[in-house]
Amino acid sequence: MEINDHVDLDQFMAGVKKRNPGQTEFIQAVQEVAQDIYEFIDDKVQYHEAQILRRIAEPDRVVSFRVCWEDDNHHIRVQRGWRVQSNNAIGPYKGGIRFHPSVNESVLKFLAFEQTFKNSLTGLPMGGGKGGANFNPKGKSDAEVMRFCQSFMTELYRHIGPETDVPAGDIGVGGREIGYMFGQYKRITGRWEGVLTGKALEYGGSQMRPEATGYGAVYFLRNMLRHAGQDIEGKNAVISGSGNVATHAAEKVVQLGGKVLTLSDSGGFIYDPDGIDQEKINWIKHLKNVKRGRISEYADHFTNATHHEGKRPWNVPCDLALPCATQNELDADEAEALVENGCIAVSEGANMPTTLEGVKVFHDAKILYGPGKAANAGGVAVSGLEMSQNSGRVSWNTQQLGEMLTELMDGIHAKCVEYGHEGGKDGSGYVDYVKGANIAGFKKVADAMLAFGVV
Ligand code: GLU
Repeated sequence: MEINDHVDLDQFMAGVKKRNPGQTEFIQAVQEVAQDIYEFIDDKVQYHEAQILRRIAEPDRVVSFRVCWEDDNHHIRVQRGWRVQSNNAIGPYKGGIRFHPSVNESVLKFLAFEQTFKNSLTGLPMGGGKGGANFNPKGKSDAEVMRFCQSFMTELYRHIGPETDVPAGDIGVGGREIGYMFGQYKRITGRWEGVLTGKALEYGGSQMRPEATGYGAVYFLRNMLRHAGQDIEGKNAVISGSGNVATHAAEKVVQLGGKVLTLSDSGGFIYDPDGIDQEKINWIKHLKNVKRGRISEYADHFTNATHHEGKRPWNVPCDLALPCATQNELDADEAEALVENGCIAVSEGANMPTTLEGVKVFHDAKILYGPGKAANAGGVAVSGLEMSQNSGRVSWNTQQLGEMLTELMDGIHAKCVEYGHEGGKDGSGYVDYVKGANIAGFKKVADAMLAFGVV
């Protein structure tokens, strides 16, 4: 075999599996992209010769480090931290930091890989990265979280910078954690600079950043529905999660005239037949962000609602589904249940929440399905706008940013339609949003890499 011979998809995936043993989430993310890209590059010899897909599926670097901290009982605790810098062809590495016990190298490599395509789709100059630690912020005091964040940043600071790598929040990392990490970065380097996004407004944060991921996922949903001649108004939505993404997705569904029936956390889901309105969403935001409580408390407070311990909400009949919790939270059986119960559209606020088998169910049923890398890109897009504001020493108002977010989501939807339109093939006008997002995201990064030669 010639070294640059065109290996087929199965051979390519066999290589990915061999080089990344046991990294199931990473392999899953590469598989989902590779199957679309293989078709797209079939007749494009320059991508094969330059080994573009093979290079994108290998992160630029994976940094891992020890994070020591002292808990309130003066016990010394040791965690593992990482930064995965996946690809910086089109801009500085950009992507969140996740603190959760499930974090490992595979999870962060999958997230950084997805982030590369997502960031490309926004049209803004951002590469892909992701970081985190196997630290569980649940049940920790503010002082413990502060000590952990400071220790984490004491290692991370040497790998990041406004022109190299700009982290942000993700699961377990919100305003509080960003504040502690930014303070430590500034203390070590003596520089105030836009090295993190998701900052509070007082120190360089952007209006609309907290809302952006959830609102963006609903704008994407609205765009898919409109394209199919439908709307959100009067429709029932099932949402998972109860963090920043889920609560803002719920808020936007309600604003657009939909009814939200569920939210969840790792302990189970709540079902409210009356609908979760703005007042109730505010109550949940306070419960989660200030009291740091559990979603089960909702059913104690709003007595018409029920809590379903240890369960996920996908069996609740609905028109619209928004998985906004975490990866692989919706499997093939649950996807079948959604389709059977009449769900017409799924928009992913989380990253890769649907398993590969679940995605197949949605595609076979030809319902509208917006994958996370397109549907939840509003968050990182407004992070990109936060970077611009920081480097330009300006701050834009809520209305300006709201309009920019809507436009960015319109642009992402249009790209997915352009590259994912199957109408020409079977005449149905069906849009494969996964394919559209993968190809559009890939093309920009790949063409930049071609321009650089072999680096
Ligand atoms: N963690 C978010 C994501 O998955 C946001 C990343 C960012 O703002 O950099 O896209």
